[in-house]
Amino acid sequence: MKDQIQNCKKCQKSYTFSSTGCDLCADCIEKYPYFLSFIEEFFMGVTDRILGRVEVYSNKEPGEYAIDELRFLFKENKLRSKEFQEFRKKWDFQHISKEEFEIVKKKIKDNFL
Ligand SMILES: [Zn+2]
Repeated sequence: MKDQIQNCKKCQKSYTFSSTGCDLCADCIEKYPYFLSFIEEFFMGVTDRILGRVEVYSNKEPGEYAIDELRFLFKENKLRSKEFQEFRKKWDFQHISKEEFEIVKKKIKDNFL
């Protein structure tokens, strides 16, 4: 692969893409080792639940497979759905630190399971 100069998604510093393989510079990969992707799932006949998973990718070892997943499943109602949409908006497609990962895990466990 040809070296490609990019700007880091977190700190905007320019770095060589091929040396990190992800859209963060090496320093930010240390600080933000995880990347999250929310995926909602739908099942025939299930209309009153929101369910799905948050796929967790490693920035240290970027690859096409998730290293972990967090399941969510909750009974739909206006308040909770709104809360979930806000939660998702904040964390979906974000590079996160270990501490933030713990916050996300706890939030899902406490509120969306
Ligand atoms: Zn950076």
